[in-house]
Amino acid sequence: MSKSKLVDYTKISPNSSARTVKISKITIHHMAGNLSVEACGNVFQTTERQASSNYGVGTDGRIGLYVDESRRAWTSSNRDNDNVAVTIEVANDGGSPNWHVSDKALAATIALCVDICQRNGIKKLNFTGDKSGNLTMHKWFASTLCPGPYLESKFPYIAAEVNKRLSAASNGSASTNTGTDKNNVSGAAGGVLWCVQIGAYTHKKTAEARARSAEAEGFDFSAVQSEGMYKVQSKGYADKADANALLAKVKKAGFSAFVNTRAADKASTTKKTVKRIAQEVIWGQWGNGADRKKKLTAAGYDYDEVQNMVNKLLGK
Ligand SMILES: [Zn+2]
Repeated sequence: MSKSKLVDYTKISPNSSARTVKISKITIHHMAGNLSVEACGNVFQTTERQASSNYGVGTDGRIGLYVDESRRAWTSSNRDNDNVAVTIEVANDGGSPNWHVSDKALAATIALCVDICQRNGIKKLNFTGDKSGNLTMHKWFASTLCPGPYLESKFPYIAAEVNKRLSAASNGSASTNTGTDKNNVSGAAGGVLWCVQIGAYTHKKTAEARARSAEAEGFDFSAVQSEGMYKVQSKGYADKADANALLAKVKKAGFSAFVNTRAADKASTTKKTVKRIAQEVIWGQWGNGADRKKKLTAAGYDYDEVQNMVNKLLGK
């Protein structure tokens, strides 16, 4: 068994073969849809479709495992590529023609690539724009748009970010960058940090009380004003594994909690665009029904406007 410690969800697909060569490449695909890691896992369960990938990344930044790295997934319409590559399917939070990908998904994809490279001894992700490099795309092997214009445009950035973190890690500096200094964001992909969140409230006092209850258990949480709410979050980590480790401790202490991202620039309290808020609604960050309406209104957003955008984004 060989897999990333960043995995949030596992559903092994029956569609895979033995891998006969050493892993030396990564192929990033797009799902051509906004599938959660669970939904993507279900798609790969059917044997009629004969498709799978090693990993999937949701719009919420969660990572799914479908085919263990020790095996060849059926992803790129090319046996040789899939034999040598770890394949990743990334969800789209926007449709045709651009097939946009969320910042969270992009950050998670970069973190996953770094981890794949480190565990498989890949020193550098070399994007050459053709098959000669070790960061490849589906469209080079088949008549497909995959990975779509948006993600394709990010390949040079992904390779640069991955290589930055690989070289920082090999110099030993990344291992000390565990977010102890909240302003130290070097190594964070796309300016996104991982944190543990134990609640989000419209009232500052409620959030601060929640933070104090965690403090009483020995944890360091604070109320962070973000997106019109007060989120009770831990400090930010550049490495998701650090946030996952804290999550385990916090949960063990009896708190309901989850790993979230926080912007590296936490001072930002500017109002978000309607589209951004709608996206957050889809991610489940604003609750449901009357609760959602109350929160959005309290945060100064027009509920109907946001809801219309949600329907638009979901293609309703
Ligand atoms: Zn593809």
